[in-house]
Amino acid sequence: MQFSKSLLIWFLIGAMMILAFNLFGSRPVADNKVSFTEFVQMVNESKIKEATIKGEEVTAVTVDGKRIETVIPTGYDKIYDILTENGVKVNVIPTENSSWLVTLLISWLPILLFIGLWIFMMRQMSGGSNRAFSFAKSKAKVYLEEKPDVKLDDVAGMDEVKEEVKELIDFLREPQRFQKLGGRAPKGILFYGDPGVGKTLLARAIAGEANVPFISISGSDFVEMFVGVGAARVRDLFETAKKNAPCLVFIDEIDAVGRARSGVGFGGGHDEREQTLNQLLVELDGFDANEGIIVIAATNRPDILDPALLRPGRFDRQISVPKPDVKGRYEILKVHINKKKIPLGDDVDLMVIARGTPGFSGADLANVVNEAALLAARRRKEKVTMKEFEDAMDRIMMGLERKGMAITPDEKEKIAYHEVGHALVGVMQEAADPLHKISIIPRGMALGVTVNLPEEDRHLYSKKELMARLLQLFGGRAAEEVFYGKDGITTGAENDLMRATELAYRIVASWGMTDELGPIHVPTSRNNPFMPSGSPDISEETARKIDEQVRKILVESYEKARNIIELYKDAVIDIVELLLDKETISCDEMFKILKEHNVPVMNRCRKKEVENVNVISDSSAPDAPPGGIPAPA
Ligand code: ADP
Ligand code: ZN
Repeated sequence: MQFSKSLLIWFLIGAMMILAFNLFGSRPVADNKVSFTEFVQMVNESKIKEATIKGEEVTAVTVDGKRIETVIPTGYDKIYDILTENGVKVNVIPTENSSWLVTLLISWLPILLFIGLWIFMMRQMSGGSNRAFSFAKSKAKVYLEEKPDVKLDDVAGMDEVKEEVKELIDFLREPQRFQKLGGRAPKGILFYGDPGVGKTLLARAIAGEANVPFISISGSDFVEMFVGVGAARVRDLFETAKKNAPCLVFIDEIDAVGRARSGVGFGGGHDEREQTLNQLLVELDGFDANEGIIVIAATNRPDILDPALLRPGRFDRQISVPKPDVKGRYEILKVHINKKKIPLGDDVDLMVIARGTPGFSGADLANVVNEAALLAARRRKEKVTMKEFEDAMDRIMMGLERKGMAITPDEKEKIAYHEVGHALVGVMQEAADPLHKISIIPRGMALGVTVNLPEEDRHLYSKKELMARLLQLFGGRAAEEVFYGKDGITTGAENDLMRATELAYRIVASWGMTDELGPIHVPTSRNNPFMPSGSPDISEETARKIDEQVRKILVESYEKARNIIELYKDAVIDIVELLLDKETISCDEMFKILKEHNVPVMNRCRKKEVENVNVISDSSAPDAPPGGIPAPA
């Protein structure tokens, strides 16, 4: 204890010095003053990290750490909206209080911090488990909105998703009645999709429609350096929820806490995350669905979540929130233009803008609208014309390009051919899973997907079905070759090739399905991750034969796939045209075109969504995660 006492004295001395500095030294002056327009531009370009608004004065910190100052023009009342929409952290200092009291508080802050830190360290030293005062409570960033004023109409262009969440609204409105009518009370729902697609907005709209409080916290707020804080925050969160039920709890960035436990610890941070995650699981299991609480979690990386989070009774319902297609983009643009009552010039065609912004998220589109309005104001125009929209699109596209997310029209066409290749080869085989839809809307790292739906949950696959799957996997690369030549093939097929090779290997070596090798099973590193590679129990001769057979199967399947594409080339061209136009097409739409070309289709369409989805997800990046929830192996 003697040690701590002297530590305290040192802290006090340090604190005094800081106090003295604050009282007598002058506050640091901003490096530079900027005009308000410049400031807004910087905000839109995401150059601002944090801003403090005090009356008409704004002090901001840029991403590269510079301090800037600007003054808000009188009567301008959207500053707060613009800042928050662009992800700037906003502090507001009320002007009435800018007296000596605030100054004093600011000066005292360091001392309070020091004392807090000291108390905390004492707590850690004396075992850390003493909860005499809830330290976490004072810092918890639980954000409570009594009545969110967002409605489903404010969320544009995701009709299927909105249909899916209607049930949640019904439940929140009248939990008891809902259950009397035979509905199963929903509890945990996972929204997954790229950043900015409107997951938070949708969650708020659900609470808004149901007229219940919206309680939110970000997963990253849970993860602290100190052991125990995160878990305490989880407890606080659920306490708040129970007090406010019926209500909706929203946990953003759930992956920050919910990453799969790796087994490789890296010190305190790891333990802390695990403790927080465990607490979250306990709380999820601990409340009864009848209480009228719904927990929605959001992530853009569902593939890295700990499987424990997705078990029944936890986040057992997963809803994909996709990036908008052309029609969706059109509607999002309209919503934002109407919301801000932006006057449009006669030449503005929102459909043209929607077509020119493939891969844009809702947030990107909201930015386009904001940016165009600002440009028009700067150019002193009465109305926002197409020119402003074009410039705004260019600017935001540049930002996306920097992040490597923009797709050129050229690429888009290649992706379309690739996906139609998968789909066509699939429908030309009786043993393939029925086709559901094709999409070239980028999602995560995936550039396009072809979704097939198997008949029911499958446990056994025949060789015929496996070979059909193999051909289908090659359909993408084969189409590239047919339409772009041997030199035109792309890296987009990496994931397909990986899956095809693995499948062929298992056909030969795991499931003993070839005549040449017969019914053998070879436990190698390829199909058994726990086995060291270079398996000792097969001869070199066998290993060579396996390789030979694998290659033979792969090459033959590829040839077959290419022949199919070659044969129905004309139909492919028409399907690609429609796909480029609509970005997502259903199996029915594809079949209609095949019929026009008299293609003898061997398979049928499948509409109903089932759990076990066979998605061919194409990406160009080497380590790209598969899109969506990983299908059970
Ligand atoms: P996420 O939570 O998926 O990262 P947000 O819900 O935070 O995305 O979206 C950020 C902003 O982008 C929203 O506040 C809204 O202005 C805009 N936005 C995104 N998607 C839509 C949509 N479907 N309709 C209207 N606005 C949208
Ligand atoms: Zn592919």
